[in-house]
Amino acid sequence: MLKKERLFTPGPTALLPQAQAAMAAMTLHHRTAEFRAVVTQTLQRLQRFLDTRNEVLLLASSGTGAMEAALTNVTSPGERVLVLSAGKFGERWEKLAQAYGLLVDLVQLPYGESFGAAQVKGRLSGANAPGVVMVQASESSTGCKHDIEAIAKAARAEKADVLILVDGITGVGTQALEIDAWELDMVVGGSQKAVMMAPGLAYLSVSERAWAAMEAAKTPRFYFDLRRERKSQAQGETAFTPAIGLIAALNAALEYIEGLGGRAGLTANAEALGAATRAALGALGLKRFGQGQPSGALTAIEMPAGLDAGLVVKGLRQQFGSVVANGQGEMKGQMIRVAHLGYYDFAETLSLIAQLEIVLAQLGKLETAKLGTGVAAAQRYFLAETGGQKASAKG
Ligand SMILES: *Cc1c(COP(=O)(O)O)cnc(C)c1O
Repeated sequence: MLKKERLFTPGPTALLPQAQAAMAAMTLHHRTAEFRAVVTQTLQRLQRFLDTRNEVLLLASSGTGAMEAALTNVTSPGERVLVLSAGKFGERWEKLAQAYGLLVDLVQLPYGESFGAAQVKGRLSGANAPGVVMVQASESSTGCKHDIEAIAKAARAEKADVLILVDGITGVGTQALEIDAWELDMVVGGSQKAVMMAPGLAYLSVSERAWAAMEAAKTPRFYFDLRRERKSQAQGETAFTPAIGLIAALNAALEYIEGLGGRAGLTANAEALGAATRAALGALGLKRFGQGQPSGALTAIEMPAGLDAGLVVKGLRQQFGSVVANGQGEMKGQMIRVAHLGYYDFAETLSLIAQLEIVLAQLGKLETAKLGTGVAAAQRYFLAETGGQKASAKG
């Protein structure tokens, strides 16, 4: 049977055709007025997308590069930092900080739990308290989001000038994230997540407080020196050769996202697909992984007892061309992770639920009488959300 390859992985995610086309069509040299106009427009759109007064910069790297840039530009070796970690990406902040000789105060929660104010309280007071807090908005390895508003407010209440660095790589475009109102100093994003394009480009917003901290920061940096990028990007240039095609793709993707109502519209879409997926899980007697707040970016579906997630990943891939992610690290085998962030619609979410039912039935983990019950729950969610209106009645 014919099958189409479809990515349901929480990075890289499904590609927007308009972004692909823009990338393929881009032939400009970067030191030209035409390309400077593209960079300037992309940065303006990115700032609108992030809905912040803070400056926004583009970097040619994966998301981790921008995490590294955030960290190295505002710290000095030997400095204490607070890392909140409840998954593989929390551990990335920890490892990054250690690699640059920072002293890490580590707050850990079990995989699948969510951070809030309670985990910050009492950790930022006193003369020797950490000057930087690092956290994920959405922890893609567990499918849980953290309460960034509560964390930021609790941190700032204890230490007014603390720097708050947020890995928003799957949190941007999938959950509320008020950069200015919550005073988030640096928020990092990546191209292969909610902005619907290929990997290779990262972006971050930088507050005035963070710019000021850079003057005193002593951690070595060169390629990721944000002060140099700031000067260049203000002129529509980048310090080094930019990822020209990827910037053209991002510009096209952001234009498309503006048509969806910007980041708020994109977030509402991802959250609805997540809620529909959870409704299906409930009807099928499946659970999502962990006890934390569900992320809008993805759903981590716990496997029934005795079933290796690898078999489900393989079944979906071989029979339907659908690519979902296995668990990461020691969570491998326990779950599949299904993306909602970026370019996903209800039709393909419904289809994936139907495919999952088939694969579970084949593996003897779903009675055939239950086929369709997850799909039906998602269908009911859709009808309830749209008020049951007929497609023909209101376009
Ligand atoms: C994907 C992801 C990253 C970065 O991954 P790269 O492979 O460096 O792009 C970091 N944090 C989170 C939460 C992610 O989902």
